[in-house]
Order: sequence, then C-alpha cells, then structure tokens
Amino acid sequence: MAPPTRDSSTPRAQRVKQRRGEGQWALGYREPLNPNERSKKDDHPLNVRARIENIYAHGGFDSIDPGDLRGRFRWYGLYTQRKPGIDGGRTATLEPEELDDEYFMLRVRIDGGDLTTQQLAVIGEVSQTYARDTADITDRQNIQYHWIRIEDMPTIWEKLEGAGLTTMTACGDSPRVILGSPLAGIAEDEVIDGTPAIHDIQERYLGKPEYANLPRKFKTAVSGLQDVAHEIHDVAFVGVEHPEHGPGFDVWVGGGLSTNPMIGQRLGAWVPRDEVHEVWAGVISVFRDYGYRRLRSRARIKFLVKDWGAEKFREVLEEKYLKRKLIDGPAPEAPKVQRDHVGVHRQKDGKFYVGAAPIAGRVSGSTLLAVAKAAERAGSGRVRLTPLQKLVVLDVAEAEVQGLQAELAELGLPTEPTPWRRSVMACTGIEFCKLAIVETKARAKELVAALEERLADIQSDVDTPVTVHLNGCPNSCARIQTADIGLKGQIVTTDAGEQVEGFQVHLGGGLGLDAGFGRKLRGHKVTADELVGYVERVVRNFHTQREDGERFAQ
Ligand code: SF4
Repeated sequence: MAPPTRDSSTPRAQRVKQRRGEGQWALGYREPLNPNERSKKDDHPLNVRARIENIYAHGGFDSIDPGDLRGRFRWYGLYTQRKPGIDGGRTATLEPEELDDEYFMLRVRIDGGDLTTQQLAVIGEVSQTYARDTADITDRQNIQYHWIRIEDMPTIWEKLEGAGLTTMTACGDSPRVILGSPLAGIAEDEVIDGTPAIHDIQERYLGKPEYANLPRKFKTAVSGLQDVAHEIHDVAFVGVEHPEHGPGFDVWVGGGLSTNPMIGQRLGAWVPRDEVHEVWAGVISVFRDYGYRRLRSRARIKFLVKDWGAEKFREVLEEKYLKRKLIDGPAPEAPKVQRDHVGVHRQKDGKFYVGAAPIAGRVSGSTLLAVAKAAERAGSGRVRLTPLQKLVVLDVAEAEVQGLQAELAELGLPTEPTPWRRSVMACTGIEFCKLAIVETKARAKELVAALEERLADIQSDVDTPVTVHLNGCPNSCARIQTADIGLKGQIVTTDAGEQVEGFQVHLGGGLGLDAGFGRKLRGHKVTADELVGYVERVVRNFHTQREDGERFAQ
C-alpha cells in the first residue's frame, strides 16, 4: 500500500498554500518573495535621498548603486530614461542597463493639479535650466521633466521645495500623487470641495516610512465632481450628498487599468470631509498589510478587493483599522456632463476659468513660464493641471478673458481647440520610456494635424468628440481601456510580412456616463502608417451615422 501523503487539494491546504504564496504581511509572511520586496526590506527607499545628495550628486551617474538606480530612486520621482535610438522591437530583448540612459525623467507631484502662478513659474525655470526645456503634463496632473542629471538634483529639490513643490513618492511602491478636480472650490455644481481632504492626507502621511513601502503603487482620487477618473483608482472619494448628513464622500476601492482592468467597487460608506484622511490611512494600511507581495503582477489592491469583495474589505477596514463603523451612504448620481475643462466657463464666484489644450500634454518650461506670466497679467494667481493633460487658468475677470485667450493661443495653447485636438491623450512613449515599443507624442501631434485637415467638413457639427488615447506599450499610462478609441502600442506584421510599429485597437471604453472598458477586437490592429486613415474612418462613420445625442460608447 502506498504511504499516506498530505492532500494538497483540500480547501484548507489550498488556503494555506495560497496565503504563504502571496506574501501578505498581516498573515505573518514577512520574508521577501521577489527582488523588489528584498530591495525595500534591505533599505527603506525613502533613505535614498540622502545618498543622492551626499554621494551620487558628487560622484555622477557611474557612482550610483544599481539597486538605487532602478529601484529606490523612484520614491523621489526619478527614472532613468531610454537611451536614444533604440527601436521598439528591441525593448524586450535588452538588459535594463542597455536601455538606461545616464539622464533621468523626473516627476513633480502636484496633488490636485493645484498650482500658484509662482509655482508654475518655478517649474518652468527649473525646466529651462536643468531639463533642456522639457515639461509634459501627465494624465495624473504631474509635470514630467526629461534630461535631468543626477548632479543637479540637490539644486532642483532646493528650488522646487522652496516653492512648496515636491517629488516625494511621485513614483515607486508608494502613495502617488492625489488626483483632485481641476475645478475644486470654483465649480457651481460641485457637491463638495475635496481640497482640504487632500491637504490633510499630504500633511499627515506623505513621506512617512510606514506608508511608503506598499506592495505596489497606490493611486488616490478625491473629488466633489466626477472629473478625475475615480472608477480606476486604488481608492477614491467621490462627492455625494447624504440625505441626513449633507455633502461628503462615497468611498471606492480596487479600481485600476493595465493588464487586468477593473472598475473600483463602492464600499457603500459615506465619509465627511474631515474624516477622509483617516479612512484613506485605513485603506492604504489594509493594502500594506494584506496586499499580495509575491507576484508584482498581482500586487495592486484590485486583486485583494476582487478576492475579498467590498463587504469583507469594509469589515476589515472598520474592525481592524478604524475601530468603528462607517456611516452607510448613497451612490453618487451619474454626472450630467462629461467635462474636459477646456474653454471659457463661469465660476461660482462670477469670475471665469479658462481651459487650454496642448496636444497630449506636451508643453515646455518656457511655455509654462509664459503661461504663469499671462495668467498674472489677467489677474489670476492660480493654475490647475488636468487628468486629460490640459491646463486651466482660474479666477479670470470677464474683461480679461479674451486677452488671456489670445495670449494662450499665441503660446500654442488654444482655448477653443478642434474636437480632435481636445480629445487626444498620449503617454510618454519611445522617446523617453524604457518600456515603450512605439512612438506616441509625436504621433498624436501628427494625428491631430491630419484630422483637422481631413475632417474639417464635419468639425462644426461635432458636439461629442471621439476620444483617442495612445499608449506606447501594453501598460495603460494613457488609459487606453477608457477611450472611445484606445491604441495599445506594439510591433505588428504588415501584409508584406514586415515588422513595424503599430497598435492593437480597443473600441468603446469610457468613464463617467459610460463607465466600462473598451473591447479589444481580436486581430484588430493597425500599423502606424495606417493610423490616420483608420481613425478618420471610425470618427467620420460615427459622426455621420449617429442618432441625435448618441455617444460613441453607447
Ligand atoms: Fe511607458 Fe508603456 Fe507607460 Fe507609455 S504606457 S509611458 S510606453 S510604460
């Protein structure tokens, strides 16, 4: 008779195996299970700043420890950028050091996209002096520089921090920039202004080591308007009116894109504004302690939420972290309009906000500096960046609006752009990103120019722009699954058998009114050369065949 063996297929055995395998700290599994976890355990990533200032800034690029270079640097917003001239077909075949340039991308986190004109001017000056005048507005309301030298980092921090700006946990397995409505505090239809809650989180938790070693990144949105893609955040606080308690926030957890896109789940809880920070700290602590740390591909909070469900997540949050029950609350109403913050609109105080559209967030330090000056000439002291890679000047008196519009247009920032220009987004792409397979920003610019020419005949009839998002690789930095036309960069094979840059097409995604992910149509790919013709056909067909009021994702 064969000796008895332990049955690894019983539910209990499977559970034990699974828990051990996932590396959840709260279950006692603290031993690192992959190199990223090992690196964070060996030395807390926040410690790297002292080494940058004391060692690497003096010793130069070659003095940087590889563990810091490709790991801990991210906690201060620094990534090596892609060496110029390496085509996308080679991205997956090269070692990281072969892709590394000795220059860096640097992300400045701008919570809520909220800047004074003085801060914007400093961002522009730093770009001119230290970043070869580069500055992109990202779809997370950050500014991203390129061509940064490690030698300059101490001075760059001094200048940015002198203006109240930071690069702290702009990247890495940490709480990233907090998205907030570009119209916070000024919109007539805002349920509640989320700004004080964002400030609470910044002041109490940002840069604390206990909130800066997470299984992976953690994205937060706080908004009294539904204009910050709350559905795809790790945690989101969405403005809602409670019938008894008044305005506050509805809590969502577990949203995210990338390879396993998920829409966040409501916890069914209502939180007053001055308690948002406490609930945020509770949610991030659940993630820190119970999040899966074994496989990087499963280390986002969405996998935990999927396995637990919203009910259990809320239970653990309440019992273990908050030590109290949350108040049940209603779901927020669907928004009445989709906003992109472009154009001239009245604020609730009678002044105006003026939203301008660069193409896919591409501006420059000189442009930002000029925007700051133009805004000040128009009597404004505030500018906001948007999650759609746009820029908004607040608090403009009616008499100053036209003058400001003209100045912005001169700077290449039209406030009455064509529908094609206002609805295009693109990630960094092959120009600077080491993971990229294809070009994105330059292609977005070409696409806009071509559509403006080819679709001029229907332009004036378009009241519902078709959104087009371009990604340089299968990650989803430009949120391709939530676009009407989402374009995922990859190498495709032409009819002649040639391998060229191209895109997998996703159709019909959206947020807000049409929350859902676009469908990836099997074999639906276009080469980069076919892109303009393809988008033109889809857009023209939609606009000539749609019913009145019909949206693309319907
Ligand atoms: Fe880089 Fe890919 Fe993100 Fe684009 S989507 S910025 S190519 S990682």
